[in-house]
Amino acid sequence: MSARTVTSRLGGFNADMTRLAERPDFTEAQMLDEGKTLLSLLVARDDWLPDEYAEPNPHYYCQYLLYCDPLERFSIVSFVWGPGQTTPIHNHTVWGLIGMLRGAELSRRFESGSPMVETGVDRLEPGMIDVVSPSVGDIHKVSNAHDDRASISIHVYGANIGAVARNVFDAETGEPRSFVSGYSNRRLPNPWRGVNV
Ligand code: FE
Repeated sequence: MSARTVTSRLGGFNADMTRLAERPDFTEAQMLDEGKTLLSLLVARDDWLPDEYAEPNPHYYCQYLLYCDPLERFSIVSFVWGPGQTTPIHNHTVWGLIGMLRGAELSRRFESGSPMVETGVDRLEPGMIDVVSPSVGDIHKVSNAHDDRASISIHVYGANIGAVARNVFDAETGEPRSFVSGYSNRRLPNPWRGVNV
């Protein structure tokens, strides 16, 4: 953590990501490379995510906004999967970094087609990072790898992801359907709360 005025891990991460976003002529590849290092440090310790943003819902997976850059250059979200929960096949349209914090998840990658073509599956364990982007592969389906406990990953996207118009896909036909995800929470965590983690 590099900010002297910020006392929480999340606050430090917000500040470090802001510094990356401020760099002139910074490429997506550089953002992913340096952002990956920062996110690795954030998810290396599982002692900072407030319980309110780690709460599973019995009926659907949750996406809690933790912070959004005022200029919407990036957003930070905790994804919480209850036992056995899964996303549809979907894209992002912007770069994204996924850092596993708790539990484990499976990311099945797809390419367009009719039916959609599954190209591989990655299992993320705590501390591991995955990348999505239109330039490196943007379509996947994510599932909780556990059927007896919640799993949580921390995501960083190159936009205010909850407001981005993107697509879910029908696995059989490849047909896209537009959606805007929104967020699950009604309020944000306070990264200046003075807790020294
Ligand atoms: Fe995704």
